[in-house]
Amino acid sequence: MNMRILGEPYGGALVDQVLPSEEADQKLRETKDMTGIQPFIDFIYDSEKIANGAYSPLDGFVDSTTFESIVKNNRLPNGLPWTIPIIITIPNEDEKAKEIKEGEEIALLDWDKRPFAILNVSEKFQYSKENFAKTAYGTTDTSHPNVYDIFYNYGSTALAGKVKLIRRLELPTVKYELSPKETRELFKAKGWKNVVAYQCRNPPHTAHEYIQKVSLENSEIDGLFIQPVIGRLKKGDYKPHVIMEAYKQVVDGYYPKDKVVLSSLSITMRYAGPKAALFYAIVRKNYGATHYIVGRDQAGVGKFYDPYACHKIFDEFDVGITPLRYKETFYCRACRSMATENTCPHTQESHVLISQTKMREMLKKGMELPTEILRPEVIKVLNQGDVILE
Ligand SMILES: [Zn+2]
Repeated sequence: MNMRILGEPYGGALVDQVLPSEEADQKLRETKDMTGIQPFIDFIYDSEKIANGAYSPLDGFVDSTTFESIVKNNRLPNGLPWTIPIIITIPNEDEKAKEIKEGEEIALLDWDKRPFAILNVSEKFQYSKENFAKTAYGTTDTSHPNVYDIFYNYGSTALAGKVKLIRRLELPTVKYELSPKETRELFKAKGWKNVVAYQCRNPPHTAHEYIQKVSLENSEIDGLFIQPVIGRLKKGDYKPHVIMEAYKQVVDGYYPKDKVVLSSLSITMRYAGPKAALFYAIVRKNYGATHYIVGRDQAGVGKFYDPYACHKIFDEFDVGITPLRYKETFYCRACRSMATENTCPHTQESHVLISQTKMREMLKKGMELPTEILRPEVIKVLNQGDVILE
């Protein structure tokens, strides 16, 4: 029996390096005399998440020892499983930044070149891009979006050190973006002890709804925490407000009130398949989740990963969150319900199963979207136009 009261932060304590307002004002004034860098956008997102505890126990960008430990052993130096190095690099073209010294305090600038955080540089080091790509993503093929970024958008010099947040990022989904501290307070206020987290990056299908609701049927679960990853967009991605609006429609229309919290997680999507599934589970544990839904090919891209490797990795590493593993879900016309191969005996001819890629194509061509797998409210949101980044 599960007696946990909300998920303990990973490593035991939630990192909180969000500066109180007076101190933040003071630091902001000091940034005028600091070297400032505008890092690649992935690192802007990560800075905020380090400071607000989403990546606990990391309290800063990793140093060379931690980097090596992650790529060699999938663990932090203290032994805790961790699969994706969280680094920040100096933009290669930024000549001034190359003079940054260890021990220096520097300002981190957002996409509008405004300071939002401070980095205490504890180490400046070179790292192997090839090693990073090969171990975290299992490939050096630059048709993989994150591997492309490592080779072409990440700088070659990394900086390690603690991050302190001066102010929150101004995000497009700011009204949905909650910190781990805030979700924990919210779950507590609702009296939830066991919370199941759901990771996604697309508008909801009824297949997604199905596995969320099956999870909610479990008497051990008090609430569902839906947290789409909404960060930097690549061509062909749904725009952030579209994903959140579609989810809001479904949550309002088809879920009991007080059973669901909907929030966005603004970071860059890591398509590392199993390693990303583990990473995303750890992050949700920091937000207070005790359980974590793992569907088929979670955080996969193309054919880079075995679709069920994301299930198996939870047998290899115990990160203190219970995985709820689901097979591929579809609508079956013969069963007249949602099902998986665990519950339906019919052949594929009875199954309605449409990939996100196919759905986007149909949308583009103005074709009618299938009502078996999309709620009419979602179809309406998707048909409003300007929903995909071209
Ligand atoms: Zn069936």
